[in-house]
Parts: sequence; C-alpha cells; structure tokens
Amino acid sequence: MAKSTSDALWKDVPLSSRKEFFLEIAESYTGINIRLPLQVWKGKKEGPTLFVSAAVHGDEINGTGTIRELIANPEFELECGTLVMIPVVNIQGFERHTRYMPDRRDLNRYFPGVKTGSVTSRLADVIYREVICHCDYGIDLHTASVRRTNFPHVRADMEDEKCKMMAEAFGTEVVLNSSGPEGSLRYEATKAGCSTIVLEAGEVWKVETAYVETATRGIVNVLKAVGMVAGEFVPTEHQIVCETTKWLRAQSGGFLQFHVSPGETLVKGQKISTNTGLLGKEIGSILAPCHSIIIGMSTMPAVSPGDAVVHVALSTKKDMKDLEDFIDNIDDESIEGRTRDDFATNIHVIEENGD
Ligand SMILES: [Zn+2]
Repeated sequence: MAKSTSDALWKDVPLSSRKEFFLEIAESYTGINIRLPLQVWKGKKEGPTLFVSAAVHGDEINGTGTIRELIANPEFELECGTLVMIPVVNIQGFERHTRYMPDRRDLNRYFPGVKTGSVTSRLADVIYREVICHCDYGIDLHTASVRRTNFPHVRADMEDEKCKMMAEAFGTEVVLNSSGPEGSLRYEATKAGCSTIVLEAGEVWKVETAYVETATRGIVNVLKAVGMVAGEFVPTEHQIVCETTKWLRAQSGGFLQFHVSPGETLVKGQKISTNTGLLGKEIGSILAPCHSIIIGMSTMPAVSPGDAVVHVALSTKKDMKDLEDFIDNIDDESIEGRTRDDFATNIHVIEENGD
C-alpha cells in the first residue's frame, strides 16, 4: 500500500510531470539560506513513492553524478508513482569536499533527527520529515571512504521483505545482509516503513563510469520490480548474500604490493599483499583467513601496523566456488566484466611471486 502523499511537499505535482524543490535547511555564516535541491517526477498514474539519495557523506559524489545522469538522460518512462531524487543530502559537507557536517558529526548516525537539535540533527530531521516519511522505498548511494575503493555491493536488511526484493532486483553480485547502524538513514527509514537499501561502490571525490552504470541499472531494476517502470528487471545472473564481513589489517608497516583486486574471490591462505621496505625487502604479508570476496580495498600502498588493507565478505566454500565459476565466465563486454575491470584500474596488482 502506497503511503499517503496528501501532505507531502510534492502533493500538487501533476501526473506525468517533473518539478524541482529547494528545501531550506539552514543559514550559512553569511546569513544566506542554504537550500537543498531535489527533483520529483510524477508518473502517468498514482502509485508508490521511491526516493534515491546521494552524498549523505558529502564527499561521496559518485551517486550525485548518477542522479545527474538520470535527470538528464532517463532511459525509462515512469508509468506510475512518484520518484524523488536528492543529488546531495549533506549539502554543507559537499560544499567543503568532506564526509562530515560542519559540526564534525556524521549525518548518517543522526536520523531521524531532532528539530531543535544540533546542526546535523536538524538536517536529518528535515530529510526524515519532508522526504522519508512520505516514501515507500529508498535507495541511498554511497562510496568507500577516503583512500579506499569498494567493489559494488548492496547492503540491505534481508529480513525486511521489501528490502530483500529491492536488493535482489538491484542486481549486484554481492549483497550484505545487515539492518545497518542505528541512526543511519537506511536503518531509520526502514524502521519507519520506507524500506531502504544502500549501494556501496567506488571512491570519494569522483564520478566513475562503472559506478554510474551499475547504479543506474540497479535503480531502473528496482523501479521495474516495484511496478513504477514497465518491463522485467534484469539482475545479475549470480548473486550471493553474505552475513559477515571482515577487515584484514597490516601486521607490520611498510610499502604494499597488492596481489588481488576488488571483486576477486579468495581461498583460505591466499596471499593478498606483500609488505616491503622501500628497497624491496619483504617485511611481511597478509593471507586470506577464509573463503571470501573482496568488497573493499585500500588504494594507499603505504601502511602502518593495524591499517585496514582489504575488506572481505565471507561465505561458504561452495558459494565462493560457484561465484568464482560465474566470474570466470563473465563476458568482458558485459556490465559485470567492464565494472570489474574499471574498479581494478586504481590498484597496481603484482603477481604473488613476480617482480
Ligand atoms: Zn557513505
């Protein structure tokens, strides 16, 4: 059942039309209003409402680029319902090229917000009241944090039927089953009845082609799955759901040689990286503790002991073998093939015993 939009910001937008809105969220130091732009599309008929948001972390602008592309070149018609697009949620962080809000808080821990609270809490409150509370579904677009890259994966609460349906439709090869931290946009939105999933992929401060393609296909797939766009959705041919992830950390400091790239499957004991001195003398290495797939990596090859190097999602040996078979047969020209190549370009991979 679609949520009532009788008191929503976009209640007067006519069917088959688009309208821009500017939410007034605060005043800058100069006293000028800070306005948060969003665009709303109404379909040909009434139906569910879905939001797509980006840059809750102000430097994660891959999603912002995706929404700009969607607005400029939509390759679909909205049959029914309402599509709400927010290119930048943390507009103050975006202006400063930073993840955080001006009061140094992480906006993604302050939902649903408080009207009279901190700077961050007030922004969360406006987004929550004006957008989330009027939506049935949400897709929140993220990237890895600074000096890291993520291999595309969806994070979703697979116990929530609507989240599960969206995660499966979105179509990344890996889905992480988790409800997300309390105070995060997706956790609080889902709790409020607006089931929301997160895409994690790519890096900060960039609009990457592979990200835009993956995110666009996923968003259109979800719009088809919820009936807002006509046609069957086309997810990936193989998807695994992982319950656990683990960061593998450097045990010694030094200069890293990577032997793996994002999206690669690992077997237990496989060498992930070799740690050397600046003249090449080996100091140590990191081994895969179990069968897993790389969903995130450091792009910084200089490490201190304890630095996170590789983020892996764990699954069974059988799941990983099936995934590996799928990966081995990926067509280089397919979106999975190109995405895998593109996200690997920022990592210089050296064969384990090569030089
Ligand atoms: Zn983020």
